[in-house]
Amino acid sequence: MTQKTETADLSDYSIGYNAISSYFADRVFGPKAQAKYLNKISQNAIANAVGHGQLIDKDTANEVAKGMQEWALELGATHYTHWFQPLRGTTAEKHDSFFEPTGIDTGIEKFNGKSLAQQEPDASSFPSGGIRNTFEARGYTAWDPSSPAFIMSKAGAKTLCIPTIFISYTGEALDYKAPLLKSVAFLKQTSLDICHYFDKKVQACSISLGIEQEYFLVDAQQFKGRPDLLFAGRTLIGNSPAKGQQLEDHYFGSIPIRVLGFMADFEERAHLLGIPLRTRHNEVAPGQFECAPQFEDMNLAVDHNSLLMDLMESVAHDHDLKVLLHEKPFKGINGSGKHNNWSIITDTGVNLLSPGNNPEKNLQFLSFFINIIKAVHDHRDLLRASIATAGNDHRLGANEAPPAIMSVFVGQALEKVLNDFEINAKAGKKTDSFSPINVPNIAAILFDNTDRNRTSPFAFTGNKFEFRAVGSSDNCSSSMVVLNTIVANQLKNFKAEIEKALKVDPSINAEDAMKTILRHYVSGSKHILFGGNGYGEEWKKEAKKRGLSNITTTPEALKAYLSKPSIELFVNNRIFSHRELEARTEIRFETYVLRLQIEGRVLNELVSSYVIPSAVNYQKTLADNVQAMLSIGVKKALCKSQIEIIEFLATQINTVFELDKKMTAERAEANNIENAEKKALAYCNKVKILFDQIRECCDEIERVCDDALWGLPKYRELLALN
Ligand code: ADP
Ligand code: MG
Repeated sequence: MTQKTETADLSDYSIGYNAISSYFADRVFGPKAQAKYLNKISQNAIANAVGHGQLIDKDTANEVAKGMQEWALELGATHYTHWFQPLRGTTAEKHDSFFEPTGIDTGIEKFNGKSLAQQEPDASSFPSGGIRNTFEARGYTAWDPSSPAFIMSKAGAKTLCIPTIFISYTGEALDYKAPLLKSVAFLKQTSLDICHYFDKKVQACSISLGIEQEYFLVDAQQFKGRPDLLFAGRTLIGNSPAKGQQLEDHYFGSIPIRVLGFMADFEERAHLLGIPLRTRHNEVAPGQFECAPQFEDMNLAVDHNSLLMDLMESVAHDHDLKVLLHEKPFKGINGSGKHNNWSIITDTGVNLLSPGNNPEKNLQFLSFFINIIKAVHDHRDLLRASIATAGNDHRLGANEAPPAIMSVFVGQALEKVLNDFEINAKAGKKTDSFSPINVPNIAAILFDNTDRNRTSPFAFTGNKFEFRAVGSSDNCSSSMVVLNTIVANQLKNFKAEIEKALKVDPSINAEDAMKTILRHYVSGSKHILFGGNGYGEEWKKEAKKRGLSNITTTPEALKAYLSKPSIELFVNNRIFSHRELEARTEIRFETYVLRLQIEGRVLNELVSSYVIPSAVNYQKTLADNVQAMLSIGVKKALCKSQIEIIEFLATQINTVFELDKKMTAERAEANNIENAEKKALAYCNKVKILFDQIRECCDEIERVCDDALWGLPKYRELLALN
């Protein structure tokens, strides 16, 4: 059931109580709209571009533009934009109108193949990591026909959005999408090559991704009262409420009415834009929620997730709510992530990660399964780097899901299969994988072959891998580019090894060659498998013994991008040039510093404009009271507690003031460092550590201070949505 809202810009979206299928993707120029507005040649050209990466010629582009414009105008669009994903997160758009004046009082609506295919946005202030010096400052957007155009409606303004890549004049990628498309193509090809050992009929593979998105919602008025949420996206101070998530009574609980209203609106608009949302629920922390779409082709899934984040923010605005996509908005309760569910599926409908009933005999499954494990094993530090951001450091490395140690969870049953396979043993007694529910009247259902482990960063869940360590505000491309590339590279090496073995000894068959190679892989990489509690201290010790690193900060993690194996991996497979890789890493260091710079400044403001004045006011109230008590003859001994509070506050004020000064000085020093990596390290090791100490003092003051004199909305107010 959808909730009606009064705001004008939503009226266009008031679908009433119709089935979702009746309006799904109505604002998308997908195959259905194309069939109505394009001739057969243009439709086929797009289908070939999507399916086989074929280029679309100029005449066809003009035809497509004509049909697309007609469709968009009928739906009320006045402007169009090339929609892209620059490297500073979020999405970028620059709107141009279709309208073109032809005289003093006449005009027409115009749009052609050139406007569709390519634009040159004035984008000199997008980060490029030094790639775009002023003499070659031009950046181009180019149409990605594999992601359909859509019409975004905000505040009554309707804009035709055309998904594009963003590249420099010299051809270097300046966005998230371009390398993602390259890595997807690489993995499709190498997967297909391996499939052909098993089934020559397979003509193509696709890479599937389903992204679960966690987020917090807070009341917009409360939000506005918190400079830290406003500017840094997370609270920098705040005393934990008496009741947090201890009872876990929020998880899967009934969704607060106000939140449900938001969700219904937001889902309706997402469905109109073709985002196949299916799931909504409360998450573990109070005020935390999750939504998940059905999985899609990776390129589309990533576009849809970017669009979803944008949409959530604008719909929340209509409900006087604020969406917090930060990885750790509140201390003491869970942070948010994105679970990236990932698999490879053939055009014959086989999920290559589906173990079937007899995984031990399913060599095709084992080939993919083992190669993925080996890829993660060999490039685990790079995978860790792919999710490194200032925000995500609060999840990874803190005592919460998932840990910063990269490991793979496959479940007991499959771990046994791997072990047996390694020693070539006959599969012994099978671990009970299918267990009937022993409740009368309830049908026995098939259970997954894998149990669940919520603490693993990279878990096999039945017929897909789930990369759970991605940050909630991240663009998934960074991590997916790494995952696709390491797996594709591994499959490429696997094929080369098979071919070599067959050449060396023509008497063996491909299957035997594969088994020998795979066995070898299992032996070399099985110490990345871990099924225990990923949060525990024990695991940290055990991981160290196994040689698995535990990199808890972004500046340390990012170094893995520029290690020799990483450079070879990306450059040899033409995913990134060396220059692109350096530029991107530099941007990541810079972004880290920018985030911490903002946090430092906001913390200064909180300390000097909120915390200290509140403390002083309360001291004054108490001091006045003590004086009044004494003046009417109350014994001094009876003023003892109040004097103690005054003294306690004085100590805290002095401490926090000194710490704040020290932090400002450290920041000034770090700001003098030119080199991006060194600067990031200084911010991490010298500035950030003071944040926690400052926070401790502030939280003590908040705990003691008179509520009426506390100038900031407190945790209990921020987290009490219903
Ligand atoms: P949960 O992990 O919360 O139990 P599910 O496992 O049912 O939820 O699904 C989570 C996400 O995984 C959804 O987006 C779903 O579409 C996606 N998913 C399911 N199967 C696959 C697959 N084969 N490849 C990629 N994603 C998948
Ligand atoms: Mg999941």
